[in-house]
Amino acid sequence: MSTRTTPRSSGTRARRLIRPEDGRRNNIALVLQTLYDHSGLSRADLARQTGLTRVTVSDLVAELLDDGLIREAGPNEQVRPGKPGTALALVPDARDLLAIDLSDQVTLHGAILSLQGEVVHRVDRPLAGARGDAALATVTELARDLQRAATHPAAGLGVGSPGLVDADGVVLNATSLGWRDVNLAAHLEAALGLPADVANDANLAAQAEHRFAGGSANLLRLQIVGGLGAALLVGGTPVLGENSAAGEIGHVVVEPDGAPCRCGKRGCLETWLATPHLTQRLADDPGHHDEILAAAGRHLGTVLAPVVAVLDLSQVILGGPRDLLDGPLLAAAQATLTEDTRVDFRGPAQLTHSTLGDDAVILGAAALVLRRRLGVR
Ligand SMILES: [Zn+2]
Repeated sequence: MSTRTTPRSSGTRARRLIRPEDGRRNNIALVLQTLYDHSGLSRADLARQTGLTRVTVSDLVAELLDDGLIREAGPNEQVRPGKPGTALALVPDARDLLAIDLSDQVTLHGAILSLQGEVVHRVDRPLAGARGDAALATVTELARDLQRAATHPAAGLGVGSPGLVDADGVVLNATSLGWRDVNLAAHLEAALGLPADVANDANLAAQAEHRFAGGSANLLRLQIVGGLGAALLVGGTPVLGENSAAGEIGHVVVEPDGAPCRCGKRGCLETWLATPHLTQRLADDPGHHDEILAAAGRHLGTVLAPVVAVLDLSQVILGGPRDLLDGPLLAAAQATLTEDTRVDFRGPAQLTHSTLGDDAVILGAAALVLRRRLGVR
């Protein structure tokens, strides 16, 4: 390995990516992010990609090698004139990502993941109807279980909680857990002596689609269960909105004088899409199974169209029961959305069923640790 010492003036790309207030930590994150996304780059490749000088890159690479986060993986395959560089690669098990999903009202799910989002260990704890302090104690025990089971240094703990969660990891309100103003992140940090981050479960699921399932950086994710949960990602960044309710389209009226909704109005989208409503409609009229699903899909497509147009989204992902969603409903929603937003300067937004299954929140919690603790977005 030769350490290149030739200074290289940073180009316009560098000025665009690196702001004056950014320090060494941000540059480290930038190099790690680049290797996370493109394994096998040499130091010279990294300098080109990041716009940092080769001296700076060599220095940052040395620190990442020292930390064990990356390794030298032999000569770079891409032959260029001059001396071949040494390929660098992420070490996926250099750190354990600890993740907890609190969205299931029966069982709390925990997992240990590699840096690439591979689940390597799982721990569950029954919630057993616990609420308030008792629920908090159960979460803390689950976090300790994970910490004990970790076989590599832990980068941090990420938690996906139902309800409203502020940017500091305070759960402002989570009805199913009986929590109001619970500073969960601070509590877990103190209990474990480990960095902890907490965010809303639906928002984490959207980040997981982007980070681990090849999802667009501009996407809306809808979780369709008892109600409609929503999360919005624009430019890869979660968008929360004024009331942390961005993307919540469940109570947009699609059928004036339709079925009564729990919000007090009639004919909300939720009265068509929420699983209990949809199942009831199908049970009431079994002869029109596909037609009912298609009607629900058309309502969904109609509500999605202006959202997709305003935010220029390229993807809408549905989480929830596949037997209800992934068929006539999805097809009708896609057809309506495509037709209603058709224009020559933009391709149609793709509507898909989530491929992450029950692990969406766990993966999102791991993505949260990656982002907050290692700077990998
Ligand atoms: Zn409603």
